[in-house]
Amino acid sequence: MTETTKDPLVIRHLDYLGPMAKQGGWRPDSMLPEIAFVGRSNVGKSSLLNKLMKRKAFARVSNTPGRTREIHFFDVNREFVLADLPGYGYARISKERKAEWRPLIEGYLKDSTKLWGVVQLLDVRHDPTDDDHTMLDFLADLGVPTIIAVTKVDKLPRPQMRERVEHLAKYLGLDPDQIVPFSAKTGEGRDDLASALVQLLAMPDWRSTT
Ligand code: GDP
Repeated sequence: MTETTKDPLVIRHLDYLGPMAKQGGWRPDSMLPEIAFVGRSNVGKSSLLNKLMKRKAFARVSNTPGRTREIHFFDVNREFVLADLPGYGYARISKERKAEWRPLIEGYLKDSTKLWGVVQLLDVRHDPTDDDHTMLDFLADLGVPTIIAVTKVDKLPRPQMRERVEHLAKYLGLDPDQIVPFSAKTGEGRDDLASALVQLLAMPDWRSTT
């Protein structure tokens, strides 16, 4: 996209609404549609959200010590609620700790009547991990519209990056068009992801069509 392209998602208002700390805990009573962002720890979620929102430290609250295992809600433009879910599958924590994310994350995704869509992040350099598969299978079973954002694409030379995106698409049984290549470093994919969100928000509620 060129610099003259119109921003598909101009961020005019961005308000932190609060956290959900445990399954069934506090959540905003907003009637707005919700878009949830999920991915394993270190996939680049905070960096992607900062870039998407064009705020340097937007995702800082979710990365504050002690708060990384909560779901954080933000009101965007009074148009939708962004739910920043905890990064899962952190390699250095035990299996029991690893399993902790499931009730909170899966409970939220299943019970949120306002959930409109999910953005699943995957690192372009790696095939999905077991935890990614658990999440992808869960989302597929739920039937919620899901956008795949492939992160850190600046880390690979162009042709290799395209190959990886094609490989991931095949691996996931998707069309390469359903995947958004993203770099928080160069800004590549920011407007594509923004447009994908705007399109998703314009779609009818998936629950009424299933
Ligand atoms: P999170 O744990 O998913 O929130 O991941 P972060 O956004 O904190 O990123 C984890 C690490 O990857 C940090 O060192 C970031 O600087 C780096 N990172 C994130 N996105 C990109 C990217 O698009 N390109 C490059 N080169 N590094 C990135």
